Amino acid sequence: MMPSVTHSAGAADAALDADVVVVGAGFAGLYMLYRLRALGMRAIAFEAADDVGGTWYFNRYPGCRCDVESLMYSYSFSEELRRSWTWSERYAPQAEILAYLRHVAERFDLRRDIRFSTRVVSAVYDEGRNRWQIATDRGEQVAARFCVMASGCLSVPRKPGIPGVDSFAGEWYHTGQWPAAGVDFSGKRVGVIGTGSTGLQLIPQVAKQARHLYVFQRTPAYSLPAKNRPLGPGDSAEFNAAYGTLLETMRHSLTGTLHVMKDQSVLATAPEERERICERLWNEGGAGLMYYFNDIAVDAAANEEIARFVRRKIKETVKDPATAQALTPTEYPIGTKRICIDIDYFETYNRDNVTLVPLAHDPIEKITAHGLRTAHGHYDLDCLVFATGYDALTGALLQIDIRGAGGESLRDKWQAGPRTYLGLGTAGFPNLFLVTGPGSPSVLSNMVVSIEQHVDWIADCLKALHDRKLNRIEPRAEFEEEWMNHVNEIAGHTLFVRAASWYMGANIPGKPRVFMPYLGGVGVYRRKCAEVAADGYRGFDLASVD
Ligand code: FAD
Ligand code: NAP
Repeated sequence: MMPSVTHSAGAADAALDADVVVVGAGFAGLYMLYRLRALGMRAIAFEAADDVGGTWYFNRYPGCRCDVESLMYSYSFSEELRRSWTWSERYAPQAEILAYLRHVAERFDLRRDIRFSTRVVSAVYDEGRNRWQIATDRGEQVAARFCVMASGCLSVPRKPGIPGVDSFAGEWYHTGQWPAAGVDFSGKRVGVIGTGSTGLQLIPQVAKQARHLYVFQRTPAYSLPAKNRPLGPGDSAEFNAAYGTLLETMRHSLTGTLHVMKDQSVLATAPEERERICERLWNEGGAGLMYYFNDIAVDAAANEEIARFVRRKIKETVKDPATAQALTPTEYPIGTKRICIDIDYFETYNRDNVTLVPLAHDPIEKITAHGLRTAHGHYDLDCLVFATGYDALTGALLQIDIRGAGGESLRDKWQAGPRTYLGLGTAGFPNLFLVTGPGSPSVLSNMVVSIEQHVDWIADCLKALHDRKLNRIEPRAEFEEEWMNHVNEIAGHTLFVRAASWYMGANIPGKPRVFMPYLGGVGVYRRKCAEVAADGYRGFDLASVD
C-alpha cells in the first residue's frame, strides 16, 4: 500500500495525515503497528505514557506479575522474537514483562511511529472525507482513514468515591499508577483498600516491609496458589520444541491457554476422585483447577463443590479462625469474579504486623487526614494504597470523545452498555476498530492470544479492503444486535451474572450492569471471526466512497 503519512515532528499544531491512527502502545498497539508496517500502511500511534508497555508500564506495584504463565503470555508472531527472549520465572514479574515489550519495540523499531506522552482526547468521523479526525491533548490533529483503539481493557484506574478520599495527608498510591522509582514502606503504617488480583499480589510484599499493614477488605477473594518457580533453559527448550502444537491448542482453547477442559462433570465424579484431582491441580498451581471440570461455570452445585475445596484450604492456612472466616468467600460462585493467583497471600495473615479489617460489618465511613475511619474505629496510617481496580473494558474508550457518522457520540450509543459486532467494531462508527473490545473474549482469556487474533483480523481486513479497492467498513446494526443477543444469551446460561464483578460493570457506581466480555471461548470466537472474514466480512457494510 502507498504510504501516506506526513510528519512534522514536534510542532504542537502540526497537521498530520496517516492511513491509520492507533491509540495505545501496550501489547495491542505494538503488534498493530508491526502489522500495519508490514502491510506498507503508514500508521501513527499515540500513547499517554512516556514509553511502551501499557499495563506493564503503569503497574509497578510490588508483587505485580502475570497470572497466565509467561511462556504462554508472549507474542507468537515472530519466531525470531521468541528465540531471542527467555523468561526467568513461571509467572514473570512486571519489570521483566515491561523489558520484553521494550525489547519488542526496539527489535522492530516501533518507537519511531509512536507519539509518547500524548493522550487522544477526541476522534471524530468526517463523513465527507471518510476520515477520522483525531485530536490530542497536545493540540495535534491527525486525519486518518482508519482508527484502531488499542487503548486497553484495564487502563483507567479507579479511585473510589469514599468520603474524604482527597483529604488524606499522608502518601497515597493507586496500584495502576505506581511511581517508577518505587515506594519504601519501611517503618510505615500502611493501609491497603482492595483484595482483588492486585491486592492479593501486593499485600504479601508490603507486609514484608511495613511496620504494620491494615488490609481493608470489602469482599473476600477466591485464590489459587501460583506455585511460581524459576524457569530453566530446559523449560523454554521443551516449550519451543512443541511450540506449533501448543500454540494451536491455545488458539483453539476456551481461554487462550493450555488449560484444556475435560469432558468431565464435578458432580459426576466420585468425591474421593474429585478430591484427588482438586488436590493435584492445587499443588500444580495456577488456574488449572478452574478449567478442568466442564460444569463449574454453569452449575451452582458443581461450583459449590470446588468453592468448598478452596475455602477449606484457606482455613487450613490461616491460623486465626476469625481471620480465616473473614477471608473466606461465600457470597458468590468461585470464578465469577476473576480468580486470583497468589503467592503466600493467605499465609501473610499469620504475620504479627498484618491486620485484616473486614468491612462487611465495619464499613468504611471516611478517609481522614491521618488515616481511615470505619464504623468501629479509626486506623492511623502513614500511607494508603488503593488496589481498587479499573473502569474496565469501556473506560478508556469512553474517556475519548468518539463521534461517528452523523456526529453520534459513542458515549450516547453505549449509555445502556457497550454494543459491538464481534467486539471488533460498532455500528455507526465506520472504519473504527476495537482491539479486545467488549463483546469479545478479551479479559476472560490469555490476552496476548486474543490481542494477536484481533490485530491479525483487523490487519487482514485492511488488506482485503485495499485489494478490493474499498475504503469504508461498518458493522451492520442488525448483525450487531444479533451478536449482542448471543453474548448475553451465553452469559445468561452461566453463573457469571450472579456476581457483582467488574465484568458486569458493577464496580463503578452508575455504570450499566451488563456482562461485557464474550463467554463462548477463544477457539469458538476465533472460528466465528474467521468465518465472517471468509464470507466477505459478513455483517459489515463495505464501500468505496472516494
Ligand atoms: P494496555 O496494556 O492497557 O495498553 C493500552 C495503552 O493505551 C496504555 O498504555 C494507555 O496509556 C494507552 N491509552 C489509553 N487511552 C489512551 C488515549 N486516549 N490516548 C493515548 N493513549 C491511551 N492479562 C493476561 O492475559 N494475563 C495476565 O497475567 C494479566 N495480568 C495483568 C496484570 C495487571 C496488573 C493488569 C492491570 C492487567 C493484567 N492483564 C493480564 C490484562 C492486561 O491488561 C493485558 O494482558 C494486556 O497487557 C493489555 O494490553 P493492551 O495493549 O490491550 O492494553
Ligand atoms: P478489582 O478486581 O476490581 O478489585 C478491586 C478491589 O477493590 C476489590 O476487592 C473491591 O471490592 C475493592 N474496592 C473497590 N472499591 C472499594 C471501596 N469503595 N471500598 C472498599 N473496597 C473497594 O481490581 P484489581 O485487583 O486491580 O484487578 C483488576 C483486574 O486486573 C483483575 O481482575 C485481572 O484481570 C487484572 N489483574 C491481573 C493480575 C495478575 O495476577 N496478573 C494482577 C492484577 C490485576 P469488591 O470486590 O467488594 O468490589
